[in-house]
Amino acid sequence: MNLHEYQGKEILSQHGVRVQRGYVAEKVSEAVSKGKQLLTETNTPCFIVKAQIHAGGRGKGGGVKLAKNLDELEHYSNEILGMMLITPQTSKEGKKVRKIFIGEDVYYPGKNKIEELYISVLLDRTTNKNMVMYSSEGGVEIEQVAEETPDKIFIEKIDPIVGITDLQLQTIATNLNLSNDAFDNMCDFIKKLYTAYLESDASLFEINPVIKSSDNKIIAVDAKVTLDDNALFRHPDFIQYRDEYEEDPLENEAASVGLSYVKLDGNVGCIVNGAGLAMATMDIIKHSGGNPANFLDVGGTADAKRVEAALRIILNDNNVKAILVNIFGGIVRCDRVAQGIVDAYKNIGSIDVPIIVRLQGTNAVEAKEIIDNSGLEVISAISLQSAADKVKNVFA
Ligand code: GDP
Ligand code: MN
Repeated sequence: MNLHEYQGKEILSQHGVRVQRGYVAEKVSEAVSKGKQLLTETNTPCFIVKAQIHAGGRGKGGGVKLAKNLDELEHYSNEILGMMLITPQTSKEGKKVRKIFIGEDVYYPGKNKIEELYISVLLDRTTNKNMVMYSSEGGVEIEQVAEETPDKIFIEKIDPIVGITDLQLQTIATNLNLSNDAFDNMCDFIKKLYTAYLESDASLFEINPVIKSSDNKIIAVDAKVTLDDNALFRHPDFIQYRDEYEEDPLENEAASVGLSYVKLDGNVGCIVNGAGLAMATMDIIKHSGGNPANFLDVGGTADAKRVEAALRIILNDNNVKAILVNIFGGIVRCDRVAQGIVDAYKNIGSIDVPIIVRLQGTNAVEAKEIIDNSGLEVISAISLQSAADKVKNVFA
């Protein structure tokens, strides 16, 4: 699950990480009153108005504006709330802005230079360790830094038993060219950021930029946070962070009936039981010249209700030119699944793409008979290869 910037900052500040102060607002009037509140709490006269959508590069798309007073804050809030924000990370249509973050301006000038840094904590799946990735080149996209000046990106891998060491904290602060108060503040910042990451069961905390302010404070200005869905049950407080507007409506529908569904770009819809079999099915579709339109695991109970929901979800995708149902009957009996497919087909009414069904395992032969005798345009197969060949014929 991805979070909004303001939610990420909320978690960070609960762990004592210094963040750019601010409030979220859904209406212009609310934004102005939060601005007034900020004015009494901080000594900065300027505000930053930031669109809250699940995509980066908001600054480039006009979703981040510096307001020099309350009038400008009202003006920019009006402009950004409700806009379709297009950034390098959104679709061409952009995303509708429903919330904004009103923050204190932390870039106010002072005697020292302000520096924009990049810091993230994430899981390195090749070494099975968490790592801190950081760079003195913050504020720009890290992919760009990686391409143009890869030597400016540093990594500290964290031992899961020992945790992040003082030496590692000092190495990071040194590589970021910090000294004196800024050095100490950075060590403290990283230590707390790492704790926030661990205690939230996150897979990513990306802070870009982190700034060194003119008075040597280290402040998180942005926050991109991804939480591990499989650990959400340990964090009942985080459920409120879910923003259904930011999620794919089909994926939501699938989740509500207990299907694991991920939409892909291809043309062959897949309905499969078991994640491993789903992967193998996607492979064989590729080998036979098609392209999977989705990953879909109906789970251990491939009953008629679920098969019907799965068919409806897949048929919503206009790219789909064929559907391959691949069920291995272990505990689940193939004849029941076959009946489920026939019932689902009848309930949906007209389905204008060919459906190839491969049922293997318990009662597979009976299942094939049910399909073949149904009078429906469903092509049955028993072996996976013959199912794949039948998919191939659709495209021949
Ligand atoms: P992103 O574009 O989606 O990554 O959004 P960010 O939160 O990173 O903001 C984009 C840019 O806005 C930052 O890189 C800063 O240059 C600028 N910015 C953010 N906060 C402030 C602020 O308080 N004052 C000023 N002057 N600029 C800010
Ligand atoms: Mn950013």
